Amino acid sequence: MVTSVMPTYGRIDIAFERGEGPYLFATDGRRYLDFAAGIATNSLGHAHPHLVKAICEQAARVMHVSNLYRIPEQERLADRLVASSFADTVFFCNSGVEALEGSTKVARRYHFHNGQPHRTRIICCTHSFHGRTLGMLSATDKEAYREGFGPRVEGFSHVAFGNLNEMRAAVGDDAAAILVEPIQGEGGANAASNDYLRALREIADEFGLLLIFDEVQCGAGRTGKMWAHEWADMAPDILATAKGLGGGFPVGAVLANEKAASGMKPGLHGTTFGGNPLAMAAANAVLDVLLAPGFLDGVDRIAKLLRQKLEAVVRRHPAVVEEVRGAGLLLGLKCVVPNGDLQTALREGQSMLSVGAADNVLRLLPPLIITESHVDEAIKAIDAACAGLARNAA
Ligand code: PLP
Repeated sequence: MVTSVMPTYGRIDIAFERGEGPYLFATDGRRYLDFAAGIATNSLGHAHPHLVKAICEQAARVMHVSNLYRIPEQERLADRLVASSFADTVFFCNSGVEALEGSTKVARRYHFHNGQPHRTRIICCTHSFHGRTLGMLSATDKEAYREGFGPRVEGFSHVAFGNLNEMRAAVGDDAAAILVEPIQGEGGANAASNDYLRALREIADEFGLLLIFDEVQCGAGRTGKMWAHEWADMAPDILATAKGLGGGFPVGAVLANEKAASGMKPGLHGTTFGGNPLAMAAANAVLDVLLAPGFLDGVDRIAKLLRQKLEAVVRRHPAVVEEVRGAGLLLGLKCVVPNGDLQTALREGQSMLSVGAADNVLRLLPPLIITESHVDEAIKAIDAACAGLARNAA
């Protein structure tokens, strides 16, 4: 008999009843170190007092009014995102996949507006993940996700992630945009090089394409800069973000420069819930923390420390883990043993949460508020789990 919750997930049999900073407490009282953060979403950890206060106060005032009216909290968040990015304008939605759908619409509409309606194809990359709507299933590079869900939505093609020759060769008269994750999350914590990102900018400019970055997972401070591409000292035309932006409250956003957004006008895109006062209060509270002087530098410092210590773990346990991947606090351990074994050993033996990824990688996605003592606690747990797995394997 089917469960009342539709069985779309293989769930771990733990339920949490509360959280505090980087810790989650299960219903049996057990405390877990949360290096999953709701899949890179609880950027401020759990029950962050400033975020909780902002949500409670806004909920008591007004939660939702619809986009038929001006929403001051939305205008404030848009102004702040514009001031802290390459963008000139922002559309708000509720999830990552909606931000990608919106980004694609903005890009196609730009070409339509410029008298080139045939330019619709979005060039995507292998190992990409862009979400689960019918549209984004076609942008995502995983056949298994599409199976049984009807005809593939047209207008998306794929080239090897990191391969510039393939990217150039894929450009044609019908190409509208390039869509890339600066750090692939689900695909295995694969960080694009700065040179690759800069070369994508050049290709887009040369052929009149728009450049879209999917920073749903790697954006909003996770790399120690507000946006991951800032490390490459360049900018896309459009950026999709979500996850960490709301700190656990559902908020997504499409950021665009003026040129890219030139085809958009009232009536062309919308969502009932997107940008409502409650969601905007949450994201504004998250920005209060991320944009406070020194915060992102602190994320950069702690991320480098975690990486350095993980590199040492790899040297100590070569039979279990072989490489550290990713960047900032979107890190992955490429495993020698099945990644699920390490994830289970960490959770069951060490009370530490992590997330799997493709290519036998285990992701570590802690909240951005972790300190050195949390890094030490995580490394101790990973060392112990690896030692146990190495003993079993011997
Ligand atoms: N893009 C990337 C890079 C993601 O990691 C995800 C989710 O994991 C999505 C898009 C889809 O976001 P959502 O699950 O909020 O729709």
